[in-house]
Amino acid sequence: MKPQRFIAKLADKEFFNEKFSKYVFEMEEPHRIDFESGQYVSITVDETGDRRSYSVCSNPDTHHSFELLIDHSPQGKGTTFLQNLKFGDEIDVMGPLGRFVLAPDKGEDEIVFIATGSGIAPFRSMILYLLQDLGEKRPVTLYWGLRHEENLFWQNDFQDLVDEYENFKFHPVLSRGSEEWPLCKGRVTDCLAVHDLPAKGCYYLCGNAKMIEDVNTLLLSKGVVAEDVHFEKFY
Ligand SMILES: Cc1cc2nc3c(=O)[nH]c(=O)nc-3n(C[C@H](O)[C@H](O)[C@H](O)COP(=O)(O)OP(=O)(O)OC[C@H]3O[C@@H](n4cnc5c(N)ncnc54)[C@H](O)[C@@H]3O)c2cc1C
Repeated sequence: MKPQRFIAKLADKEFFNEKFSKYVFEMEEPHRIDFESGQYVSITVDETGDRRSYSVCSNPDTHHSFELLIDHSPQGKGTTFLQNLKFGDEIDVMGPLGRFVLAPDKGEDEIVFIATGSGIAPFRSMILYLLQDLGEKRPVTLYWGLRHEENLFWQNDFQDLVDEYENFKFHPVLSRGSEEWPLCKGRVTDCLAVHDLPAKGCYYLCGNAKMIEDVNTLLLSKGVVAEDVHFEKFY
């Protein structure tokens, strides 16, 4: 799918918490978008033509709109531009871009997604597509690191997928969870250290550079080969 320039308009915005919101953009011109799950779009965020990249978090089986998950905390040009958009405002977009997409099935024992923060965006698209559209039967596991309980969202949606697809597992991890938090606490790497990580797995990592470096080191130490570790650094 060749990248192209298009105009989209803000159709909906879901405010999850102080840090994260989901934006729904409707295609204006052209009316259709084709992308692979995991790809991103590049949005013009000021009059000088400066741009920022955002992974599409929706299932690629929808073509008249696309969804973005935004972490507002950087408060630079990109996040401020998006935050100030009003319903119906048009944005100038280039996309789809990127090669961080699902790799061909090589018979790996498991597909493992490891995200921190907004790094969940491409994985939501990939997981929905894998389970709902491709009917993936191999085990699919998601580890997702956030800071506090207040940052959590989509946990019910992922839990619904756990209930519906017996091959899907979900592990939210909180680095600063409260005393009451019953699940994994610490960094994502701490959680991974106490779970089985199949050497013959297909791994996708997305988030900040430090997490990707640490998890990659851990995976290689467990016998995973470098070609089976795919990653996208957000910052
Ligand atoms: C391929 C790709 C896909 C991306 N997809 C998403 C996405 O789906 N959702 C999303 O929210 N962001 C995503 N980003 C990050 C996004 O492009 C911007 O970097 C981010 O929104 C900050 O832009 P800004 O102009 O507000 O801040 P800037 O002024 O550009 O950056 C301010 C500072 O914030 C840091 N920073 C960037 N992102 C974060 C973050 N998430 N948390 C904390 N610090 C950060 C930067 O390193 C910089 O030091 C993606 C980046 C890449 C390269």
